[in-house]
Amino acid sequence: MSGETGFPAERSDFIREIVAADLREGRHSTVVTRFPPEPNGYLHIGHAKSICLNFGIPLEFGGHCNLRFDDTNPLKEEQEYLDAIEADVRWLGFDWGEHLHHASDYFGQLYEWALDLIRAGRAYVDDLSADDIREHRGTLTEPGRESPWRNRSPEENLDLFERMRAGEFPNGARVLRARIDMASPNLNLRDPVLYRIVHAPHPRTGDAWCIYPTYDFAHGQSDAIEGVTHSLCTLEFEGHRPLYDWLLDNLPAPSRPRQYEFARLNLTYTVLSKRVLLQLVNEGHVRGWDDPRMPTISGLRRRGFPAEGIRSFATEIGVSRNDSVVEVGVLEHAIRDVLNRTAPRRFGVLDPLRVVIENYPEGQVEELDAVNNPEDESAGTRPVPFGRELYIEADDFREEPPPKFFRLSVGREVRLRSAYFITCRDVVKDAAGKVVELRCTFDPATRGGDAPDGRRPKATLHWVAAEQAVPAEIRLYDHLFSRPDPGADDDLFADLSPTSEVVVRGFVEPSLAGARVGETVQFERLGYFCADPDSRPGALVFNRTLTLKDTWARLQARQGG
Ligand code: ATP
Ligand code: MG
Repeated sequence: MSGETGFPAERSDFIREIVAADLREGRHSTVVTRFPPEPNGYLHIGHAKSICLNFGIPLEFGGHCNLRFDDTNPLKEEQEYLDAIEADVRWLGFDWGEHLHHASDYFGQLYEWALDLIRAGRAYVDDLSADDIREHRGTLTEPGRESPWRNRSPEENLDLFERMRAGEFPNGARVLRARIDMASPNLNLRDPVLYRIVHAPHPRTGDAWCIYPTYDFAHGQSDAIEGVTHSLCTLEFEGHRPLYDWLLDNLPAPSRPRQYEFARLNLTYTVLSKRVLLQLVNEGHVRGWDDPRMPTISGLRRRGFPAEGIRSFATEIGVSRNDSVVEVGVLEHAIRDVLNRTAPRRFGVLDPLRVVIENYPEGQVEELDAVNNPEDESAGTRPVPFGRELYIEADDFREEPPPKFFRLSVGREVRLRSAYFITCRDVVKDAAGKVVELRCTFDPATRGGDAPDGRRPKATLHWVAAEQAVPAEIRLYDHLFSRPDPGADDDLFADLSPTSEVVVRGFVEPSLAGARVGETVQFERLGYFCADPDSRPGALVFNRTLTLKDTWARLQARQGG
């Protein structure tokens, strides 16, 4: 894929090498992968890694990727999640075409295959409770013990399993287990559970079933039914591979997929566990699954991260079998890289300080041209109004400037970006002695930002015209957790950063009055900002996507030099 499509050129990795060899050596003529989310929560940036891999490989080698919902546990799964997952995969830029599947599509076939295993003496109904099964399972150093029900006859097992299906038994009363080897060094092969009784309606199959297959019994068989060639999953499933293979070897599977494992994505300052993310939402620590601080795809989108940046991040980190933790700065760097090219420059003031230009005619307004994107000349310019009263950033003024502070103070001249040079003459204070207004003069000869005599102020400030500026709520976001390894000291929730969201009331230039939700701009000198869906006409809300400070780029430059 080329840059033209917005998809970064892929680097090779061990999985791509396997795929290339399988095609070269004729083991497959086309590649079929799948992305198999369980619809029990929203997708996160770790899933994005898996999506970019699973959808990226067929784009590169020919073939297709199935979107398959692993919807085998109706207690945890909801339609809201199914819808959100589809929207997120599409937004990331991928298309499954006609290849949308659900594990629940195969419940009938899986049930038949379970009967086959029972008839062959390879599965049995066990009456042990979940606790007893766990207790019989043994440990890594001790073999398991056989269930007293392990040697039931196929006839008795068939009868009981059919009655499980018919709804005769309550939840947890019985399970169906594979009959493999209770002494296997691989715990996954110690008679794993294949079916559970769950009396709960399913989002798709309704009340048709009250027994549901486990992940292990559904996954490989679904792959085989769909003709998946390469089933790519994260390393924690490595130990399940012998079971994946055992089931396919012992069933009349219509095709023979292979499972390959890669390292899951871990990010500093970030938790990528759906269980924890659900808890953050349910306990109200965040504004919802799409809170701009969440590592969910919908949260990153609301935050203003472009899909292109997420895809290039996935390419950048690559795919390997080594578990590691990626610096969140690598993701932020990839996002800034895209936004620096694409985000129009605008003026916004977060902490406004009023400026009155004493020698500027009262009531006069003029339009100045401001450059939309210095990185992209074709983006052109836009008019910004200028008048006698302005707002600048309070932080850009010091009554007593420390050394190396070159911005505004009394007696000093600075440039207002795309406008004029102004000199501060005096300050106005409130009763508490706080500076609330600057009295300044401007030099009319410096219109556009250059002086005919060539003098150059040491600082250039952003600003907005007070009368035309649009008030806005601006939400300043930072990492959700205050330490790179949240939860390392046990209490994850104690590591939530109290300053992950700071809400301020500022002003933006009038061209942003109709900002589209999701549109990301750069507020000059401050960072990237994105209009939030909470915006209402006359009540704009912006999210700070990222500041301009790229500590990752600086770190790399230092290492390079
Ligand atoms: P969690 O453990 O957070 O609940 P999960 O892995 O159970 O997530 P699934 O919906 O089963 O969530 O995941 C769908 C696919 O995404 C799986 O193939 C899984 O391996 C992959 N995946 C999940 N988390 C990551 C991650 N952090 N990095 C890469 N791939 C991931
Ligand atoms: Mg899972």
